[in-house]
Amino acid sequence: MIDLILRNARVTGQDALTDLGVDQGVIVAADAGTTAAETIDLGGRLVTPPLVEPHIHLDAVLTVGQPRPNVSGSLFEGIAVWAERVADLTYEDVQSRVRQILRWQLACGVQHVRSHVDVCDPQLRALRALVDLRDEVRGLIDLQLVAFPQQGILGFDGGQELMREAVELGADVVGGIPHYELTREDGVESVQFAMALADEFGLQVDIHCDETDDDHSRFVEVMAAETIRRGMSGRVTASHTTAMHSYNSAYAYRLINNIARAGLHMVTNPLDNSVLQGRFDTGPIRRGHTRVKQLQEAGVNVCIGHDSVMDPWYPLGYGDPLQAAFVLVHLGQMSGDAELIRLIEMITTNPAAALGVPDYGLRAGGQADLVVFDAPSEADALRLVAPRTLVLRGGKVVARATPAQHTVIWDGTEEQVTFLRR
Ligand SMILES: [Zn+2]
Repeated sequence: MIDLILRNARVTGQDALTDLGVDQGVIVAADAGTTAAETIDLGGRLVTPPLVEPHIHLDAVLTVGQPRPNVSGSLFEGIAVWAERVADLTYEDVQSRVRQILRWQLACGVQHVRSHVDVCDPQLRALRALVDLRDEVRGLIDLQLVAFPQQGILGFDGGQELMREAVELGADVVGGIPHYELTREDGVESVQFAMALADEFGLQVDIHCDETDDDHSRFVEVMAAETIRRGMSGRVTASHTTAMHSYNSAYAYRLINNIARAGLHMVTNPLDNSVLQGRFDTGPIRRGHTRVKQLQEAGVNVCIGHDSVMDPWYPLGYGDPLQAAFVLVHLGQMSGDAELIRLIEMITTNPAAALGVPDYGLRAGGQADLVVFDAPSEADALRLVAPRTLVLRGGKVVARATPAQHTVIWDGTEEQVTFLRR
């Protein structure tokens, strides 16, 4: 007799339905003869390991409209609005907003989160709030915090000292924003500074890199070179890299080869970048995404990030990685049969590798962390941005949903509609 059996599970990547056993928090083998204290029939619903959010700015969530709306919706107005809002930031303000979003994320099946935290604040208020919250939620949602210098490392007064202080305070990852520094040379130096700091403390690196339409913004090559020189392969992530869409193809070819050689992880953020990039284009308007398919063809690990939830840069969202994946289907032209499955990997196994999540995946003997979608396949999960009906962490239910029931009155008869092909 085991604790729980999930019958008729459609485990991602497999065609046949299986039964998943859970006992003492761990996944165990189960068959038709296995008995359990509780049995749940999933009816062929899709089951994946936990969703992993590799790129969000938790310190800014839920601040949309404060102290004033971003009227144009542009990146630059967003930065100006945020600079005003940040003056009012308090420890309690950050914690209460983030507590709410972590609940939304858990309801979506997210159990591992990497958040950038603006450290261009002499008091490091947001980082202190999140370091304490990281301890509070450990075991339910695992938080990684990136020391993120929103105003630059060299271009911000005291930037280098604040980065070091942030690391000493407990940041897990060292960030950067080289394309925002005053000169190309400062950008290069900021990448070298961040990588050296991470190397010194044995930390990972995740840099906002080349988040611009300027095809002369070329700092990913510096990240790749430093990663190779320092032997930091697997510990370094380049986020956004939207300038790559504007590089000439000969340069992009050489760059992508070096990214693969360096073993960089890449994060694309389809929600924010689809609205923030291309703002100087009058038509055709560039899509604002890195070269996802070419990177993947070269064997590079590419992940999807959500980036913002209701902040000065992006007024929408509720923290669901599946929404971001849905947008990338369109703007990344990833509607091919195998690509739809790859998109699910880009919000699960790929970011788990980038974050270095230990013991990740659905296998007998592994911790029973999993997510059930109200959909029979990866394609249907994406198509419907399907609710997560059940989320387990260590074998315990940590979230569940009762999906909406839709009916139509057709010729005087009430009929149920499921949006699934019969
Ligand atoms: Zn970002």
